[in-house]
Order: sequence, then structure tokens, then C-alpha cells
Amino acid sequence: MAKSIMHRKEDRTCYLCMLLRDDYNAREDLQEHHAMPGTANRRLSERYGLKVYLCIEHHLVGPDAVHSNIRLRRLLQANAQMAFERKHSHEEWMEAFGRNFI
Ligand SMILES: [Zn+2]
Ligand SMILES: [Zn+2]
Repeated sequence: MAKSIMHRKEDRTCYLCMLLRDDYNAREDLQEHHAMPGTANRRLSERYGLKVYLCIEHHLVGPDAVHSNIRLRRLLQANAQMAFERKHSHEEWMEAFGRNFI
């Protein structure tokens, strides 16, 4: 399992609580989320560390959860691409994921 290149797990923050609410508090209810959905992409997300830690409200259920909110899902995909391209290249991204999110 690769370490996330998007978010520090040790901080125990929720990625979206930080980004959207400026809330950096440590949480007990964190779940791992792979930024790129789908079976093949999930595997690639794992290999490249494209994952974040989210509170329940921002992960699976409710209007602000990435699994039900396409706008937030896109935001994570764009951030995943930016993190990836800082380490690799745009060409490698397109080769791996086939789609530009930025
Ligand atoms: Zn949250
Ligand atoms: Zn998820």
C-alpha cells in the first residue's frame, strides 16, 4: 500500500473539512477514499497514493459526501491529478487515467 501523496494520514484530519471549512481538528470517524473511482482506477489510486481521509459526512452519506456529490468528487479528482503531475507528468497521467480533470 502506497502512502497518500494528497493528504497526511497521521494528522487525522478530514480532507474536505480542511478544504471547505478550514477545520483542521483531528477526527475519530475517518475513512479512506480513493480519489479515482472504478475498479481499475481504484487500483491505480492505491499504487500512486491518490487517496484521502474523510469524515463520514464527507465520504459516503449526505449532500456533502463525495460518493453522492459529483462536484466534490470532481474537486478530488482534479486535486489528485495535480498531486500526481507534481511527481510524474501530464503524459503519464493521461496514459494511466485517460482523462483530464483540471
Ligand atoms: Zn469532513
Ligand atoms: Zn470512497
